[in-house]
Amino acid sequence: MHELSIAISIVDIASRQAEAASADRVSEVELDIGVLSGIAYESLEFALGVAAKETILEETLFRINRVEPVAECPDCNHLYTPDGIFSHCPVCNKQGIRLIRGTELQIKSLLVEQND
Ligand SMILES: [Zn+2]
Repeated sequence: MHELSIAISIVDIASRQAEAASADRVSEVELDIGVLSGIAYESLEFALGVAAKETILEETLFRINRVEPVAECPDCNHLYTPDGIFSHCPVCNKQGIRLIRGTELQIKSLLVEQND
C-alpha cells in the first residue's frame, strides 16, 4: 500500500523533529496534501494510525488539509483552477499548464508538548 509507506515516512520525520525539540508528546501534526498528489485521503488517515502505533505519535491528532490545485498559464500567467492536467487557460485558451499547487505532500506544522 502506497499510503502506508508515506505514512511511515511522515511519522519518522515528525518523530525525529519531536525528539530534536525534546518533546514528550506530539499533540497535533498538520499536513498539506494536494488533491492531485495521487494520495487517497482515507487510506492515508488509516495508514497514519497504523504507522503511529507505539511511537511518540501514538496519541497524535493528524489534521489533513486538502490543497486544491492552482495552475499558472505559461503564456499569459493567468492563475486558475484546472479541472485536470490537460486544462486550457480560460483567458487565452492555451493548453498545457504549470501546476503551482495541488501536488504537495508536506508536514505543515507540528505541535509538541513537554512534561513539566
Ligand atoms: Zn493563458
